[in-house]
Amino acid sequence: MRVGVFDREGRLLRFKSGRTPQTNTSESVPMALLELAREVAGQDWSSIWRCGVASIGPLDSKRGVILKAPNIAEKGREIPLLAYLREELDIDYYFLNDCNAAAYGEWWSRKGDGVRNLIYITISSGIGGGVVDNGHLILGKIGNGAEIGHIVIDASGYMDCGCGGRGHWEAYCSGANIPRLAERLLKDGRLERETGLEKAYVEKSLDAKMCFELYYARDRAAVKLFELLKDFYAAGFAGVINAFDAEVLVIGGAIYLGHEAFFQLEVFPRIDKFLLLDKPRIAKPVHGDLAPLYGAALCALDGVEGARVR
Ligand SMILES: [Zn+2]
Repeated sequence: MRVGVFDREGRLLRFKSGRTPQTNTSESVPMALLELAREVAGQDWSSIWRCGVASIGPLDSKRGVILKAPNIAEKGREIPLLAYLREELDIDYYFLNDCNAAAYGEWWSRKGDGVRNLIYITISSGIGGGVVDNGHLILGKIGNGAEIGHIVIDASGYMDCGCGGRGHWEAYCSGANIPRLAERLLKDGRLERETGLEKAYVEKSLDAKMCFELYYARDRAAVKLFELLKDFYAAGFAGVINAFDAEVLVIGGAIYLGHEAFFQLEVFPRIDKFLLLDKPRIAKPVHGDLAPLYGAALCALDGVEGARVR
């Protein structure tokens, strides 16, 4: 969790981060967030004018609730995050999916250079994204627009996604799912046995980092796995680029930033064969890990209507 105090020019004045409580009660996260916010705001607490909140989704921005949060609430329970915050500080709130917020923050930093259309994609344990179209953040009806990690890249539905759908981009290419794909392919006899990949799987040490390391070491099974992955990545990127016709594509997240050369040299050239339009300029996030924090604050500052909590 990260909390910041911004001025009316969108400059970050003070900032603090804390761990998200991994408990299963709906109030523990809002309470921890409030505590952190009070610490950061200090004596400015009563002069806070508006508040932007970026959160994992899916959410309902109009009601100010997180709809599903298996790690931080009882199964099937919503987290009425904004109701808790409002009890302590009764001001206007803006509530967004973290990737939508990040897209807005990244666009805001570039709008002075004439950027009107921007796609933001993060490739980390999951795949998320957000889109600004002609200066407007795409939010959808209750704030879950541009969930690009869940576009279908494989109609056979070989891999199931954590969201319950099948064939989704995230189910193949996110940090949490690369090893799952490897396991499935090994079990189905589609990757060679007696390889480093199989050994790591048997020893239960197969994670995304290990998969990349084995690929860089030219392990036979890992090379075959990555031949598939490169096309899955390229298909996902191309699908998003084709849909939104943006000038800039910002890509962040630990998997991308940790393996930038791999993406630039081995994935991006493959995008072309799927493209309808020119490839946008590809850039890294200006605000890094703080992109959602900046974006939430800037949405509140600008009064982005679709994100306002009723
Ligand atoms: Zn999904």
